Amino acid sequence: MTKIVLVTGGTGLVGRAIEAVIDEEKPTNERWIFVGSKDADLTDLQSTRSMFDKYKPTHVIHLAAMVGGLFHNMNNNLDFLRKNMQINDNVLLLSHEFNVQKVVSCLSTCIFPDKTSYPIDETMIHNGPPHESNFGYSYAKRMIDITNRAYNEQYGSMFTSVVPCNVFGPFDNFTPGVSHVIPGMIHRLHETMYSKEPEKAQEEKTFAVYGTGKPLRQFIYSKDLAKLFIWVLRSYQSVEPIILSVDETAEVTIAHLAESLVRAFEFRGKLEFDTSKADGQYKKTASNAKLRKLLPDFQFIDFDSAIRETVQWYIENYDKARK
Ligand code: NAP
Ligand code: GDP
Repeated sequence: MTKIVLVTGGTGLVGRAIEAVIDEEKPTNERWIFVGSKDADLTDLQSTRSMFDKYKPTHVIHLAAMVGGLFHNMNNNLDFLRKNMQINDNVLLLSHEFNVQKVVSCLSTCIFPDKTSYPIDETMIHNGPPHESNFGYSYAKRMIDITNRAYNEQYGSMFTSVVPCNVFGPFDNFTPGVSHVIPGMIHRLHETMYSKEPEKAQEEKTFAVYGTGKPLRQFIYSKDLAKLFIWVLRSYQSVEPIILSVDETAEVTIAHLAESLVRAFEFRGKLEFDTSKADGQYKKTASNAKLRKLLPDFQFIDFDSAIRETVQWYIENYDKARK
C-alpha cells in the first residue's frame, strides 16, 4: 500500500532538504506532502484537524516549530515554550486520532542538561535543567519524548524522535536577531562586504563575530540530516530517541566556523570578536555512537564544502532568502 507521508514544517530549512532528497529519489510506493504555516496553523487544534482530514497521512515527519538562535531564544522563552507545546500536542493527538503508523518528531542537542558529562547521549535528555538561555524551547521539546512514551504505553503507538545537532544549509532563516549562528553570520558578512560602509575598501572592513569565538558546536548539513531522517522513517523501529549528529571529532569552535565563512566569501577584511555579546552554552558535544552502530558507512559531507554550497545558495537566492 502507498504510504502517505506528511511533513509538517515542510517549508523550512530541514523540510526543504528532505523534499530535495525525495525529489531526486522519486519513490514509487510513497506519496510525500510538505506543508507550512500557510496550510495550517498547528497551534490551533481545528486547523490541525482539517489538515489531517485533508491528507489522511499514514506517516508523519513532524518538524514544525518556533525555531531560532541563541539571541531569539533568550528574548522569547515563554513563546518558545507555549507555541511549541501547542504544536506538538496537536500534531501528536491528530496522529493518534488518524491512526498514523509512525511519527518522527524533532528534538535538538541544545535541550540537554546544562550541567552534564560529555559526550551526551540519548539516555541523558531529562537528567537536569537545560541551559537558562533556551529553557522554554528545551522543555517543550523534552515533552515530545515524554508524550511519545505515554502514547506508546497507553496505545502502543510508534511515535519516536530524532535529536539533530546544529543544522545549516539552503532555505535557512537568515533574519538578524532570529537566526542561528551560521545563517546569522552569512547574512552579516554579506552586509559587511556589499552594503555597509560602501566608501571603505574591503581590506579596511571588520567583521564582528558575536561572543568569544570559543564555544564548540557540531554542525550537520541539512542534506545529510534529510537522508538520515528518511532512513529513520523507513527503518528505525523504536520509541527511544536517536541522535543524528556528525562525529565528535567534527566539532568546531565558532572562530573556526567564522574562518570557513571568510574563505567561502573570499572576504579580505579583518575578523574581531564582540565579547559584549553572549556565548550561550560552551559546548553540547553529542555522541552519534547509536547512529554509527546502525549505519556505520554513512558519509557526512565535508564541512567546508557544505559551507561553500550554503554561501553560494545565499548569494544566488539573495532576493528570496528569509532575512
Ligand atoms: P525553520 O526553517 O524555521 O522552519 C520551521 C517550519 O515550521 C516552517 O516550515 C514553518 O512554516 C513551520 N511552522 C512554524 N510555526 C508553525 C505553525 N504555527 N503552524 C504550522 N507550521 C509552522 O526551522 P528548521 O530549522 O527547519 O527546524 C525544523 C525542526 O528541526 C524543528 O523542529 C527544530 O526544532 C529542529 N532543529 C533545528 C535545528 C537547527 O539548527 N535549525 C537544530 C536541531 C533541531 P512557514 O515556513 O510557513 O513559516
Ligand atoms: P546555539 O547553538 O543554540 O547556542 O545557538 P546559535 O546557533 O545561535 O549559536 C550561538 C553561538 O554562536 C554563540 O556562541 C554566539 O555567541 C555565537 N555567534 C557568533 N556570531 C553569531 C551570530 O551572528 N548569530 C548567532 N545567533 N550567534 C552567533
